[in-house]
Amino acid sequence: MTRRVGIYPGTFDPITNGHSDIIRRALHVVDHLVIGVARNDAKGPLFSTDERVEIVRDEMEHLENASAGRFEVRPFESLLMHFAESVGASIIIRGLRAVSDFEYEFQMAGMNARLNPNIETVFLMASDRYQFISSRFVKEIGALGGDIRHFVSPRVAARVLERFDGARAKSR
Ligand code: ADP
Repeated sequence: MTRRVGIYPGTFDPITNGHSDIIRRALHVVDHLVIGVARNDAKGPLFSTDERVEIVRDEMEHLENASAGRFEVRPFESLLMHFAESVGASIIIRGLRAVSDFEYEFQMAGMNARLNPNIETVFLMASDRYQFISSRFVKEIGALGGDIRHFVSPRVAARVLERFDGARAKSR
């Protein structure tokens, strides 16, 4: 039997309960999952690439069905298709939230299919409890001192708080 390798690319700035739910589901679909943390410096991330990789790895240690050896977390900055080819993936996993994600994801999947027709994009939906969560709003709420523990794990919440507290202390 061939081993089905999938990649789940994203910025993960930071990883939310929505991302973790997609990862849990993706592990039912593929034999091996590569979680690709995109460098995405242009997006001005709150956490550096190394930090985001470390935070995702830490989250994976706490994920129920994520047995070691079935996943890896890797940074990447190349074209997504090149990264997928380099890890031998046949599937790209993306998460779909409400209609807002659809147009962007639709275009990306279409263009990626042209770049390599042998790699399929597969969309997974998070549970309705996590559907509405976005890293962007987690950061906005965190920056204003709101409670983000509904949206991210306690470990991630602590990291976000620490980052904003540090920034506030510097600006004092
Ligand atoms: P990107 O910059 O590639 O959009 P993100 O980290 O924001 O990176 O998202 C990575 C993937 O996870 C995307 O496919 C996005 O739609 C999906 N995703 C993010 N949050 C959720 C969520 N709450 N439910 C389902 N999918 C999600």
